Amino acid sequence: MSGPPVAHPPAGGARRAAFLDRDGVINVDHGYVSRIADFQFVPGVQAASAELARAGFALVVVTNQAGIGRGMYTEEDFAVLTEWMRGQFAQAGVAIAGVYHCPHHPSLALGALRRVCDCRKPAPGMLLAAARDLDLALAGSVMFGDKCDDMRAARAAGVGTRVLLGKDGHSVPDEACEAAGAGLRFASLAQALADPGLRRDLGLAQRAAAA
Ligand SMILES: [Zn+2]
Repeated sequence: MSGPPVAHPPAGGARRAAFLDRDGVINVDHGYVSRIADFQFVPGVQAASAELARAGFALVVVTNQAGIGRGMYTEEDFAVLTEWMRGQFAQAGVAIAGVYHCPHHPSLALGALRRVCDCRKPAPGMLLAAARDLDLALAGSVMFGDKCDDMRAARAAGVGTRVLLGKDGHSVPDEACEAAGAGLRFASLAQALADPGLRRDLGLAQRAAAA
C-alpha cells in the first residue's frame, strides 16, 4: 500500500472524493461476489454516481476482498470483474477514478496474505493511498458504506462526511454507527442523494420539489 512520499498542494487545490464501498453499496451483497453473473447493481447507483461526478467528486471504490486471501477467488477474477464494473459505469457516463482493494485477512487468509495490514477496513490505508494517488481533499470528501468498519476507516482517514447505507438498496440500516461518527442512514446511494440535508452538506443543488 505504501508508495513514495508525495508533496501535497494545499487542500484547496485538491479534489473531493466520494468513496464507495463495493458490496452492499454498488452491488447487492450476496457474499463474496466474484463473478459477473452474481454482480447485481443496487438500483439507482449509476445515476447517483453520475450526479456526484458531475458535482466534481472523484469516485473511488474501496473494498475489502478477503475472499482473495481465503482462496475463494483470485486477483485475476477480481480484476476481470472490476474491469467489467468500470465498463458498466462508463456506459452510464461515469468515470471511476480509482478502485482499491484489500486481499488480506488477519486470521483466515492463506500464506502471505494472512497478516494484519494497513488496508483492510476499518484501517484507513486504502483511502489514504487514494488521497496520495489522486490528490484528494479528504475533509471535504464523503464515504458511503454499509458497515461500521467503512465509517471507522473514513473517520480514521479524516473523511468529513460519513453515510451508512443498507446492504440491498431497499432497507435503511437498523442502527447508525454513532461510535464511528456516522449518524446518517439511508437505504441506498440514490436514497441518500434525495435527502435535502445531505445535498446541502455536499454542496449539491437542491432538487425541485416533486409535483
Ligand atoms: Zn490489506
